[in-house]
Amino acid sequence: MPVEKIETLVVGGGQAGLAMSEHLGKCGVPHLVLERHRIAERWRSERWDSLVANGPAWHDRFMGMEFPGYGADDFVPKDKIADSFEDFAKKIRAPIRCGVEVKSVRRNVGRPGFRVETSEGILEANYVVAATGPFQRPVIPAVVPESAGVMQIHSSAYRNPAQLPEGAVLVVGAGSSGVQIADELQGAGKRVYLSVGPHDRPPRRYRGRDFCWWLGVLGLWDAATPAEGKEHVTIAVSGANGGQTVDFRKLAGRGITLAGRTEKFKDGVMNFAPDLARNVAQGDANYLSVLREADAFIARNGLDLPAEPEAHVIGPDPKCMTDPILELDMARAGITSIIWATGFSTDYGWLQVDAFDAKGKPKHQRGVSAEPGIYFLGLPWLSRRGSTFIWGVWHDARYLADHIATQRGYMAYTAQSLLAK
Ligand SMILES: Cc1cc2nc3c(=O)[nH]c(=O)nc-3n(C[C@H](O)[C@H](O)[C@H](O)COP(=O)(O)OP(=O)(O)OC[C@H]3O[C@@H](n4cnc5c(N)ncnc54)[C@H](O)[C@@H]3O)c2cc1C
Repeated sequence: MPVEKIETLVVGGGQAGLAMSEHLGKCGVPHLVLERHRIAERWRSERWDSLVANGPAWHDRFMGMEFPGYGADDFVPKDKIADSFEDFAKKIRAPIRCGVEVKSVRRNVGRPGFRVETSEGILEANYVVAATGPFQRPVIPAVVPESAGVMQIHSSAYRNPAQLPEGAVLVVGAGSSGVQIADELQGAGKRVYLSVGPHDRPPRRYRGRDFCWWLGVLGLWDAATPAEGKEHVTIAVSGANGGQTVDFRKLAGRGITLAGRTEKFKDGVMNFAPDLARNVAQGDANYLSVLREADAFIARNGLDLPAEPEAHVIGPDPKCMTDPILELDMARAGITSIIWATGFSTDYGWLQVDAFDAKGKPKHQRGVSAEPGIYFLGLPWLSRRGSTFIWGVWHDARYLADHIATQRGYMAYTAQSLLAK
């Protein structure tokens, strides 16, 4: 049987794959998107039921993407986001095949391009874009053995409070997922412990503008590299309940017991690092720095935005911060479940090319990998802070499409073709 030949293969039909398809289409590059499940599958089935976008509708979308029934400042539920990605794919007529998994990609020997093994057969591609997501494999640190007798799930497997057994719950990790899940569980009447690591927590809104706007005008989405020591610092933001600033003191005031980073577990006792106050203080510093930069921006540009002095007031520390728990007897605390909101790692086992360093990390510059013809999209800090987010991946995809189009130009070169012009 003849092998199907594709100019550019995009692996993954999430937002990154669709953005890539849009821009490749605009550059006139023939391509195919392969998605092993459905379009925007992770928004459909790997997130909890009540999740809404972390950014308002005007921001968390591609150009031309619509959310019927939602206003510009609303936080759109995850299913509606998935629906609108599907609509977007139809609108741009994305050449996408769902239900097809890419099993391996290997460089051809002695000729350009790659041999691609899929669940539906072999194909060949000159260029391959890995758009399989920033958050591929849930990470649960090896802290609590299965034999400990508590239910343990990753945040990507959490759906709603009814899923958990009776009893208290420990949520580990206080990024956007951890804080939202802890808050929901506490609201559902559960006793909740929340283990808080280092984080940024920008104000949800300040002086009449959402933080997405502030990060945009202040150039913070465009930051090219994370600050020293902040490579893995999560952003704690939430669009839940109309969108509110994540405030750990308020969460404690509502009854959530805060603790420092989860360190180790032995004989039924969980140990937490004595870093809670420091982590919260660093989050406060990040929050206040955004307010200060916003004030300076308003003054510099003479904007008429209402002053909000009360936003600068940080409330008193709750008891769980001044006298933090360092050891917790899980059974005595009645903890029957742990939710690990501890992030994800990548999984590029299928991409068998020379584009990774000794630790298996993609080697690339703005997504153009060390292996000519292979591209990465959607990775954290691919080109900037915004690279994993809906709007950011759009801009990175444009750059990669342009790069592929340029490379195609080089490959098409012959002296005769120039003379013919
Ligand atoms: C809980 C949570 C909430 C988030 N909320 C927001 C938000 O509000 N706003 C925002 O801008 N960002 C948000 N993000 C970040 C980011 O937008 C999402 O992670 C988004 O899903 C990333 O899109 P992607 O296309 O890069 O990757 P993914 O959505 O992970 O898509 C990759 C696709 O590739 C497919 N795939 C993987 N391997 C293969 C293979 N071998 N063959 C074929 N297909 C394959 C997968 O099935 C998947 O559909 C959130 C992330 C999380 C975890």
